[in-house]
Parts: sequence; structure tokens; C-alpha cells
Amino acid sequence: MTQQIKKPADLLLTNGTLLTLSPGSEPIFQGALAIAEGRIAALGTKANVERLFGAAKTIDARGGLIMPGLVNAHNHAAMTCFRGMADDLPLMDWLTRYIFPVESKSDGDQVYWSTLLACAEMIRSGTTTFCDMYLFEDRVAQAAQEAGLRALVGEVLYDFPSPNYGPIEKGFEYTEGLINRWRGNPLIRIAVEPHALYTCSPVLLRRCKELADRHGLPMIIHVAETKSEVEEISKKYGKTSVNYMESLGLLSPSLIACHCVWLTEAEMDLLARRGVKVVHNPESNMKLASGVAPVPDLLARGVTVGLGTDGCASNNNLDLFQEMDSAAKLHKVHRLDPTVMPSEAVLEMATLGGAKVLGLEKEIGSLEVGKKADIIILDLNRPHLQPIYNIISHLVYSATGADVRDVIIDGKLIMQDRKLLTLDEATVLQKAQEWGQRILGR
Ligand SMILES: [Zn+2]
Repeated sequence: MTQQIKKPADLLLTNGTLLTLSPGSEPIFQGALAIAEGRIAALGTKANVERLFGAAKTIDARGGLIMPGLVNAHNHAAMTCFRGMADDLPLMDWLTRYIFPVESKSDGDQVYWSTLLACAEMIRSGTTTFCDMYLFEDRVAQAAQEAGLRALVGEVLYDFPSPNYGPIEKGFEYTEGLINRWRGNPLIRIAVEPHALYTCSPVLLRRCKELADRHGLPMIIHVAETKSEVEEISKKYGKTSVNYMESLGLLSPSLIACHCVWLTEAEMDLLARRGVKVVHNPESNMKLASGVAPVPDLLARGVTVGLGTDGCASNNNLDLFQEMDSAAKLHKVHRLDPTVMPSEAVLEMATLGGAKVLGLEKEIGSLEVGKKADIIILDLNRPHLQPIYNIISHLVYSATGADVRDVIIDGKLIMQDRKLLTLDEATVLQKAQEWGQRILGR
């Protein structure tokens, strides 16, 4: 009998339950997964995969759950430095009295270290891709790359001067610089990001759309976040937020609309017809009392919806497991109907749905041969996760980010046995305290 020659892999994940989340899939018990050159080379039963593949390194999942890394589809990562600084306030008060004044004194180093803090928190809670809007985004991209996280980032653009680039003209130059500098990077992609309809003129919005289209990039914006925004836009332009965007020609499949809390039925139809992607941020919407986004209605119309934490000053954490739990329960209590937003729909928003929102569904969001190896392993041998009848129910209603034991991004081991391998966590925490003191001094 001849010995079969095994194919080489860089990393083998074995001895766990595989939840691939590919359409129509069932969990694979006693599963394994082989990774080569950053991509998933094979997956299936442990016996089959181990028969075919030999790897330089093996991770024993020890009966845990092997699943796709989570996608945080809307974040302002560097706002970790404002965590808990100003709570229990309405959005406009919170923004104009607290956030904008301290942000106006921000600098690149503050953004860099605060983003590393966010990356540490995201890795520890199973997020492998995040979408970011903030200032000094070149430093955000640098931090994400050093942490080994996948990210879609863009510099926030608005009518007033920015502490980073100054006047808006320089903002467009800065964005073009980001596009050129990060082109072809395996982890970092760039988007064009006007802040919101109430902070950007129609001229600015059209220019953003033109720039995004010219480079084939997504455009990301906050839309219909609060009732007062929609009232202000209606007063100024004679149209509600989404209708106003339609009149400017901004609605398209490459538009990522964050929040979408206050929509008319006709606007929901319009979002569906134009293929606009939506990001739901339930905890931020709850904390700022912005309202409840009509996510079940959007999903029923076939709109692609992802899940985001928003900045952690309005959340106040970046744990997507908690966000899933909130998303499921918010809609149930709001509709007085426990059948809306089942756990499968919520988990999809945090994985493949988020990947589709960011235009990355061919690369990430599910475990499939040929896709990028962005994978997390959860320890299931924990009191709050036993017994198991339905693993997806546990992920949405019982698990927390702290159950994530190992994280792999782009085929690289980023966290093993809860130890961060890409970041010096002690230094990141020390810097967070130092920046906290400095911000307090302002
Ligand atoms: Zn936001």
C-alpha cells in the first residue's frame, strides 16, 4: 500500500465544530480546516482534512467552534479614547458640546494609539474586519495594518475645517493620497467618506460621489440617524434624507448608508431599488435615543444590512457579540413580536452581510475554500455556553467576545489562547491611560 503524499499547508485548525456560514451549510462536527498562502485550502471532517494536508503549525480547537471572523461594518475606532467621557446625552448635544470640541484638538498620535486600543479590543472580541470613518485615517490604516486587522477606512469630510487637513480642498487631496498610498494592500482598503447630510453641502456630496466613482470605491455616510436630522434636511432642501440623496444622484450599490433609522416606506423601497447597503448600529441608536431602525422591513425588501458598533463613545464597547444580542432583542421588544430578527438573521448581519456591505463578500464573511482565512475559534467549554442545542442561538444570546480564544486574519495567527501576538498590549493600555489624562486636561 502506497503512502499518500500530503499537500502542504501553513496552518491547520483541527478538532473543532466548523460553522462555515456558507449558504445552506450545516455545522461540521469533528471538523478541520487547512490554510495556505492566507486562504482556506480545504475544510471538512478532521479525518479527511488531516489525511490530505500536512501543516507547519497546528492549532487544536479543543472541541471549540471554528467560524468566520466578525465584520464591524461601522466604527470610529479612535474614539476609544473618549469612552465614558460624556454619556446620557442626545446626539446633537453630545456631538457639539463634547465630541467636536475635544476632536478639534486631536492629532495623529492620539488617533494612532486610540486605534491600536480599538484593535486590541476588536481582536479580543472576534472582529477580524472593521469599517472606519475618522480623522487622520492614514494613522488608522497604519494601526490596523500593524495589528493585522482587515479594514476599509476613509477620512471624514465635511464643510468646516478639519484638525487633520484644514480646509475641505485639502481633504480631497488627503483622500486621494490615501487611495494612492494603500492601493494593492492585502488588508487595507480606502473609501470616500462625507460625514452626513447636515455637515456636508450638496456640492461636497456630489464631489465625493464623483471621486468614489472615478476610483471604483465605496462611499460611506451617516444617513437619517435622528428625527431632528430628517426635519433639518426637509426644512433646508424640501425632501427627507434619502429622497434628498436620490435628487443628488448619490444612491447606488456602492453607497454604504449608516444608521438609516428614520425612513419612509417609499425611501425603504428606494434603498432596495438602488441596491444601497445599510449598516445597523443598535446600541449607539439606543444609547443616544436616536430611535429604532426599521431593519426587519429593510431585510424583507432584500436590502443588504451589516452590523456596526459605531464609535465606542456612543456604545461604549466594540464587542459585536453584545451588539448581536442587542440587535435581536431591540427589534423584538419594539415590535412586541419575538419572531422578528431571528438569531440566524442577526449572525448573518455580523458576518456575510457585513462582508457584502463592504464589497468583500468574495473574500470574507464565510468559511469557503479559496476565501481569505479570517477565522475565530471560540471556547465552548464555558458555563454560559452549555448545553448546546443550537449553536447560532448561543452565539447571539449567550456568547460574549471574551469567549473568543484564537483569531486568524489573512491566514496569520493574531491571537492564540487569548494572547495578542501582533500588539504589545501592556504598552497600548499604558498609552490609553496617558491619552485619557491629556484629554481630561483639555
Ligand atoms: Zn458613526
